[in-house]
Amino acid sequence: MAADDPLFRPATADFRWHGVEVLAYKQDGAAPFRDITRQVLFHDPELKCELRYFEMAAGGYSTLERHQHMHGVTIYRGQGSCLLGTQVLAVKTGDLVTIPPWTWHQFKADLDQPMGFLCMVNVDRDRPVLPSDAEMAELRRNPAIAKFLES
Ligand code: MN
Repeated sequence: MAADDPLFRPATADFRWHGVEVLAYKQDGAAPFRDITRQVLFHDPELKCELRYFEMAAGGYSTLERHQHMHGVTIYRGQGSCLLGTQVLAVKTGDLVTIPPWTWHQFKADLDQPMGFLCMVNVDRDRPVLPSDAEMAELRRNPAIAKFLES
């Protein structure tokens, strides 16, 4: 919530909330992603953190990135896969994923269903960094990651 949001905002339907706008995933078009939306559920300077809900359509994915700030992620809807550092994880509703500082991460919905996740993050945070060509080549040397990136 922002400071002027009501204290109670009921869920409406289909992973939407009263008074919460469905936003583009990112404002700038520079980073690659597909079929993903963003809703900011809690945003108040007093909290020092934000809780966002991201939802990918079937086959959609978030940007492959890393940064100093951490994420605490809860899978909230559906299932898919997650690149986390040097691992590729199968993730499903209810799973918790901690993304440490400077760890490559990307979420992908399975091809047959949407996937949504709650993401906790600091209000004050650095900008994500995208992999260079050399870093992508290094990631692809891991067969599991290569398969994930091609899926
Ligand atoms: Mn991130």
